[in-house]
Amino acid sequence: MVIDGNAAGPYIPRPEEPMPELDLAAGAAPSVLKKADRVSLIGLTREELAATLGAALGLDAKKSKMRTTQVWRWIYHYGVTDFENMTDIGKDMRASLAQAFDVPRPEVIERQISKDGTRKYLLRMAPGIEVECVYIPDVGRSGALCVSSQVGCTLNCTFCHTGTQNLVRNLTAAEIVGQVIAVKDDLKEWPSGGEDRLLSNIVFMGMGEPLYNLDHVAAAIGIIADGDGISISRRRITVSTSGVVPQMRALGEETAAMLAISLHATNDALRDVLVPINRKYPIAELMEACRAYPGLGNARRITFEYVMLKGVNDTDAEARELVRLLKGIPAKINLIPFNPWPGAPYECSSWERIEAFADIVNRAGYASPIRTPRGRDILAACGQLKSESVKARASERLKAASSVQ
Ligand code: SAH
Ligand code: SF4
Repeated sequence: MVIDGNAAGPYIPRPEEPMPELDLAAGAAPSVLKKADRVSLIGLTREELAATLGAALGLDAKKSKMRTTQVWRWIYHYGVTDFENMTDIGKDMRASLAQAFDVPRPEVIERQISKDGTRKYLLRMAPGIEVECVYIPDVGRSGALCVSSQVGCTLNCTFCHTGTQNLVRNLTAAEIVGQVIAVKDDLKEWPSGGEDRLLSNIVFMGMGEPLYNLDHVAAAIGIIADGDGISISRRRITVSTSGVVPQMRALGEETAAMLAISLHATNDALRDVLVPINRKYPIAELMEACRAYPGLGNARRITFEYVMLKGVNDTDAEARELVRLLKGIPAKINLIPFNPWPGAPYECSSWERIEAFADIVNRAGYASPIRTPRGRDILAACGQLKSESVKARASERLKAASSVQ
């Protein structure tokens, strides 16, 4: 989620890249999530975990199911990383597990805590694979974690800083779940699922386009939502998309997650510029896919995100058009004050303009639509921290190179 002023670094417009049909999943680079000689159990679905344990320990289907339930609870409910502490498993078997497997964590490279309690993390998943996630307190029942689904993005929405960075690769299910686990470690939120939990919601609003990485996103959601583990209900998990129409139904069917659409414009001419994927899937097709989203109803509304750009998309007429466009769709509207970044070709609308826009939307029956910027003092905008670290490394390299010459 872009929560506040975005990153430093020049804005370099890139031609639109085609939708990736390549398998961009991790695999090429070894993940630091697992130790070289041991297999990581993080990120496996229950079925995969059962197969893995069964094969390694020579168990039949029934026994591997039982072991899977035990191990799953230790990993995802209690947050245990040492097999020695899995006390309802026999000593010998614990030793065998410890020999073959690992329950690793991503490396926390940087953590910043805002005055308002927002926490921004930079995590290293594998060499060169660094992602951000942001924990925002007092969102949903108690707090939301904004996770990344890709490193960079293939799309290039003109107001988004991530859109100026090339895609490095998709994150695996393990790396998505790893973000949740690392933050739960930091919040000391084990065991999972207590009444006073700090982390109640997950939003896929960090770096990347989740629907270009649906398999791993869906597997991660299955793990995060599992009632024997982290247990964050699917209704508290929101996936935001720029509008990858062909994947929307599958998202609903495979994950039952809540859907958010980055709309940002009410006509194709403007949306083609702001969210260039619109050229492939224009507004009418997007709205049709929204109406067909599985499970849609008043209790399961779609959130429409609309970034407020001064003099670009913020007139009263556009507010009225927005309301007209969403007619008949169970919807929430989230007006996002634009988070500027150096070189960005836009400015944020004035507060008066945002309020006037919000008034029209409110009068049409949509409540509290302005997203309050959080974590201003730590620039908790996805894209910021990674860019800074990339920049720092680049300048170190430069210094090193010049001292050699
Ligand atoms: N790729 C997905 C999810 C990540 S972006 C998507 O586009 O929906 C999460 C949200 O932040 C999107 O609604 C996006 O449009 C918005 N966003 C990106 N850059 C922003 C900026 N500079 N200011 C405000 N919102 C921004
Ligand atoms: Fe940014 Fe989302 Fe557009 Fe990618 S799809 S450039 S993350 S707003």
